[in-house]
Amino acid sequence: MKNRPPIRYRIQPRHPEAHLFEVACTVADPDPSGQRFALPAWIPGSYMIREFAKHVVAIHAESRGVPVKLAKTDKHTWRAAPCGGPLTVTAEVYAWDLSVRGAHLDTTHGFFNGTAVFLQVPGKEDRPCEVEIVPPPGRRYAPWHVATSLARAGARPFGFGPYIADDYDELIDHPVEMGTFAHATFSAGGVPHEVVITGRQRCDLGRLARDLKHVCEQHLRFFGGPPPMHRYVFLVTALGEGYGGLEHRASTALVCSRDDLPQPGVKEATEGYRTFLGLASHEYFHTWNVKCIKPQAFTPYELDRENYTTLLWAFEGITSYYDDLALARCGLLAPEQYLETLGRSITQLLRTPGRRRQTVAESSWDAWIKYYRQDENAPNAIVSYYGKGSLVALCVDLLVRSRTGGRRSLDDVMRALWRRYGRPGVGVPEDGVERLAEEVTGVRLRTFFDRALRSTAELPLEHLLATVGVEMEVRAAESTADRGGRPAAKSATALAARVTLGARTASDGADLKLTHVFDGGPAQTAGLAAGDVVVALDGLRATPKTLDALLAPRRPGDTVRVHAFRRDELHEVTVRLAAPPEDTCVLRLAKKAGAGALRLRRGWLKGN
Ligand SMILES: [Zn+2]
Repeated sequence: MKNRPPIRYRIQPRHPEAHLFEVACTVADPDPSGQRFALPAWIPGSYMIREFAKHVVAIHAESRGVPVKLAKTDKHTWRAAPCGGPLTVTAEVYAWDLSVRGAHLDTTHGFFNGTAVFLQVPGKEDRPCEVEIVPPPGRRYAPWHVATSLARAGARPFGFGPYIADDYDELIDHPVEMGTFAHATFSAGGVPHEVVITGRQRCDLGRLARDLKHVCEQHLRFFGGPPPMHRYVFLVTALGEGYGGLEHRASTALVCSRDDLPQPGVKEATEGYRTFLGLASHEYFHTWNVKCIKPQAFTPYELDRENYTTLLWAFEGITSYYDDLALARCGLLAPEQYLETLGRSITQLLRTPGRRRQTVAESSWDAWIKYYRQDENAPNAIVSYYGKGSLVALCVDLLVRSRTGGRRSLDDVMRALWRRYGRPGVGVPEDGVERLAEEVTGVRLRTFFDRALRSTAELPLEHLLATVGVEMEVRAAESTADRGGRPAAKSATALAARVTLGARTASDGADLKLTHVFDGGPAQTAGLAAGDVVVALDGLRATPKTLDALLAPRRPGDTVRVHAFRRDELHEVTVRLAAPPEDTCVLRLAKKAGAGALRLRRGWLKGN
């Protein structure tokens, strides 16, 4: 349009060996009183102030070849001296964050999120953005390609060159990978999908693409109607150890362990692969639930500060509920495998004493300072809006199914959220999910939501699972490696005879370190604290390897002399050992479920 010239960006991995991107931003018609430029303080989807401006190592401005003064007005904003334009600001951005949230560059590849590199032009955020993605200088980078869901505007497929976005909000929502990645393509719901994998790996790409296609089709069918994207890209970084994902409107950035990807010649789905598929399913579901159906608090995102909402239980919790359920519904998880995963989620909640301190609505509101900034006291103080949120979603789903004889479910609520808020792009008010749930299902849910979201009362899981013919058993943990979900090999008497220190431990080199000490537990009562290095139990050296063996002959009520270093001071305390808490959940398909329960279970696990 004549009066709205686009904002032009140019980005180049200028010095891969020094991890420096050079990023230029050109405004044709700068603000006559002095154009401002800013970098976001956070990236949507990851609710923590990250202050991306801290990675700007140099910045300058010029207009028609003449330098223009730049003054910094706060930690992430610059103001250029008044000038006629066009005005170009060029920044060098240090990129050494190998996560899905920032930017990373070395001689093997480059990755960036727009929030980490593209300057926002305050007052002109609605302008179209043109981006020239330029290859690094030097012949060694000739084999590099580009993968992104940004729309091409002249660049060849997987090529460097011009790309385009409707506005700044869209510009920063398409992460970009560049390098020599592996890739596969598939079509789901008529939409072309790409999978791009960076890092050394030997993934069976054909199988990965086939399985992802099932997952995508499941979600596309679930919401129905025309897909919200024209194409979709999975950007995967495979590492020795890693796990994480971030959702975008037409792509997702994932980090995984290379061994979690399906290996050639291996037929069964390993636990690691199931975890990977769950992650991919989670981020894909977000395309609807948080990228389109959004809290009012995120419409628009305020990128210079925290954006508060109590609704992350719905956007992260409900998404976490459907990520694995979708794998069961499309046949990638057998019902028993799905129940194992669900049993582990319940175990995680039961092992979080903080569920008695913080409600899931508070957890959402305070995500910025608590969930995203966990310290050694986190298990005592907070509850996860992912974990508990997903179990609240399960409870709503089962409650509605049982009250309506299977005629309505949370599935209907999600589709109604999509129609009322997602498709038209209207923000969901803070009470919007609860109101719509009652409206769509005809079930009074007020009392349930008050308890589940705004109190620390336990969720009625056992009762609700029984309505779909699933038995829930809660027992003591079998060992420190027991994550729940599976029946114990040991008898109930043997489990009750085990003892606990009331602390989580980890290896610190060869040392045994207490990482978290539970409120009111044996270790805390004796005066031990997180960070203490335990060196001996009753005079015998304690290490991460010997701890279980040293505790095995003890019985609840026994005392043990513990030597531990705090900083460089040795302390000796007497710990009275306790019986292990019953915090480990196993779920089973009931052998004698009634016809009604079986019918509800089929609807739940099949999605109808
Ligand atoms: Zn999520």
